[in-house]
Amino acid sequence: MPRMPERPRVGISRCLLGDEVRYDGTHTLDADLVSTLGAHVEWVPVCPEVEVGMGTPREPIHLVAGANGVPSADARVRLLGVTSGTDWTGRMHAWARTRAEALRQLGLSGFILKARSPSCGIRDVRVDGDERSGRGLFAQAIVDAMPGLPVADEDELHDPAARRAFLTRVLAFRRGP
Ligand code: SF4
Repeated sequence: MPRMPERPRVGISRCLLGDEVRYDGTHTLDADLVSTLGAHVEWVPVCPEVEVGMGTPREPIHLVAGANGVPSADARVRLLGVTSGTDWTGRMHAWARTRAEALRQLGLSGFILKARSPSCGIRDVRVDGDERSGRGLFAQAIVDAMPGLPVADEDELHDPAARRAFLTRVLAFRRGP
């Protein structure tokens, strides 16, 4: 049986750690978040867009309602290159399912996701051609693979009290029911 790590394992979108993995080769380091929570958890960094093979730098992508943005019988939200229209939907769904299952087996106790990203965003992600907002494809795979997992984006964790509450949820999830 694998030994339980000393600190709970928490997944995090890599760009929040300061890794230069965004489409334009920049990062979105959240220094407060990383230094305060980082003292209590073991980070498990993931960048879906790099790991699925898009490379850095890369064309930005967006979520679009219906097939190639045209409302149709295929109502599935698609993940497309903003300029080229390259369709990443199938590749991202397949990769995300496999990666989320591997993360479940690693015993994750929480996940902090980059707000509003078409891959990582947990809520309020813009979906072009649709009045509703959506969720990033990787974020959805995480929620599907690990029901009840404490999940938040960095916007929800700016406040120190919110960070403490998130850590409490992480520790409770790790202990189990
Ligand atoms: S938001 Fe997610 S996919 Fe985009 S750069 Fe950050 S980790 Fe990678």
